[in-house]
Amino acid sequence: MYLDLSKRYFPLPQEVSSAGLGEPIITPEKVHLPVHYWDDAQGGKPGVAWDFNLLSLDGYSPETGWVKIDTSKLASIHIASFEKRRSVQRKASHSKKAKRVLSKYSRRERNRAGKHQLEIARVIQSVCGSVGLEELSKERMYTRSRLWNRRISRSDWRSIARILEERLGEAKVKELDPYGSSSFCSRCGWHNQDLNGADVFVCGGCALRINRQLNAAINLYMRLRFGYTTNWEDGRKRVEPKMEGASQREWWDHTVLPSLLGGCVLTGAKLKGTNELVRFLYDAVKPKLCYAYDRHADAYLRMPT
Ligand SMILES: [Zn+2]
Repeated sequence: MYLDLSKRYFPLPQEVSSAGLGEPIITPEKVHLPVHYWDDAQGGKPGVAWDFNLLSLDGYSPETGWVKIDTSKLASIHIASFEKRRSVQRKASHSKKAKRVLSKYSRRERNRAGKHQLEIARVIQSVCGSVGLEELSKERMYTRSRLWNRRISRSDWRSIARILEERLGEAKVKELDPYGSSSFCSRCGWHNQDLNGADVFVCGGCALRINRQLNAAINLYMRLRFGYTTNWEDGRKRVEPKMEGASQREWWDHTVLPSLLGGCVLTGAKLKGTNELVRFLYDAVKPKLCYAYDRHADAYLRMPT
């Protein structure tokens, strides 16, 4: 077998900046050194699946790893507008002037939010060639706090999805059933029934500890990549990726794990498995790409992670 030199198997050293190096994870068998780099050898941008929440959009693909867009500024626009409108409503519920003021606040909120939606769509487009998005008509089961979060982020998400459809074409925007994407382990499929808004997903089946939004984005990515089936077990819905007999856990360990960690260095000790490693993931894994609103540039810029 010949090595194809036109293809790059490893990142060149100059492509790894010091900002691209993460904290090493030391396990008895290996030292995992997170290295963040772009592999553009295959050309074409990857398909990325996105999980949306009030404060962030979290994307995942094996090519990009974890991508986070901080949407807290957009959320604060809605929250501030909600507070303003509420105070006017209370002061004068029957006056014409109050009605005018209310509609002014609503218009201003729409305009400001619209600007952010365009910018967020631009960032998504710069990262990926096609997208997997949660299908909004299929509601998740909500906790009460999540319902409020959802209600104000829903219209933003719908607008962003529309902008992306216009720009990428409908074929490149795939809607995915989001059911259970936060509450099932993306590695082994174990169902976490009392997640209750925790930031960290802890799996009772395979010991995976992972950021909750990242876990959801990986689940959505699997639905995007493999397709999925919807089954009912004891009256409960269950969405499963169509892995065609392949092991989900093996796919996770061979494809997802390296994409989160970047690279690893063998220490020479015998490898027992990846189970020890996944316990350390939550503390070790940071988004590879992070974008947030910058007030001076009035745009969403890449931030160091
Ligand atoms: Zn698991």
